[in-house]
Amino acid sequence: RKGAGDVSGRLFRCTFYSDPEHERLLREKEMENAMEGALENGEFVVYLQPKVSLETGETVGAEALVRWDSEDRGLIPPDEFIPFFERNGFVIKLDLNVFEQVCRLMRAWMDAGLEPLPVSVNLSPLHLQMPDFLDAFEEVRERYAVPPRLLELELTERVAFENLELLRRVVDDIHARGFLCSMDDFGSGYSSLNVLKDIPVDILKIDRMFFSSDDERARSVVSSVVELAKKLDMGTVAEGVETIPQVDILRSIHCDAVQGYVFSAPVPIDAFEKMVFGEDGGEIHS
Ligand code: C2E
Ligand code: MG
Ligand code: MG
Ligand code: MG
Repeated sequence: RKGAGDVSGRLFRCTFYSDPEHERLLREKEMENAMEGALENGEFVVYLQPKVSLETGETVGAEALVRWDSEDRGLIPPDEFIPFFERNGFVIKLDLNVFEQVCRLMRAWMDAGLEPLPVSVNLSPLHLQMPDFLDAFEEVRERYAVPPRLLELELTERVAFENLELLRRVVDDIHARGFLCSMDDFGSGYSSLNVLKDIPVDILKIDRMFFSSDDERARSVVSSVVELAKKLDMGTVAEGVETIPQVDILRSIHCDAVQGYVFSAPVPIDAFEKMVFGEDGGEIHS
């Protein structure tokens, strides 16, 4: 590491010769060493983000989003470890662990006499390469005796699906086991129209990039997508919605639900329970 650069006028340039590529490899090595222990210690925690119905204004479900609560590094967002875990395969175990946490939570809601809300979990595209992965999900669901209709599996459209036939088979298998299936990040991939044509998911989650501008054309696209989804009998959830005007537009084009900071960021489970079930949410896990 060399020292600071020059100070000239108002310009202060500071150059450190620590190779970012080297740092990344070090971090990945650290994660590799820590991941199994972290899973056992319960460091992968589930946050929940509400999905709000545009018709009733009520919370009609939630998405489970994982964070790594690391002793050394604090709360790490998924974008910093999921891509690596997709490369080393650990995401397979992690996704199942997240799913189990969700099933355990729903069991607790039902045991407390609360009306359980449907919760979705994310599936890494890596699962598609393992034909029998749903056996493990079904085993967990049965163990907690959660009705499968309350569980939704999200497949992401961000990857190019080269093999739509395989995708179709997975979606059919998800349905055969009674789970719901959604297409995440819809519109961000390359195959969106083929996916619509060939893959009978229950819900389209429309990617937030469509809401990042108030551009008239983007709005037309979203409105057409919502209309198409309805014709194909799919529900629609708009992701990443941040403003009230966006909500108003989405309501006017009959989008079903909104998931975004405008209503709530993802929050820890106890905070979610307070939000949805009121203060007696505190008694659920006693
Ligand atoms: P995703 O599944 O598309 O989840 C939505 C992401 O958008 C979440 O980021 C959420 O916090 C963020 N978000 C929600 N509302 C807003 C908004 O109004 N504005 C903005 N700017 N962002 C919003 P998060 O939690 O950081 O997760 C990022 C991605 O990591 C997820 O995208 C998903 O692809 C992946 N991920 C998260 N948990 C899991 C998991 O358990 N398994 C797998 N395989 N992937 C996961
Ligand atoms: Mg998702
Ligand atoms: Mg998404
Ligand atoms: Mg995303």
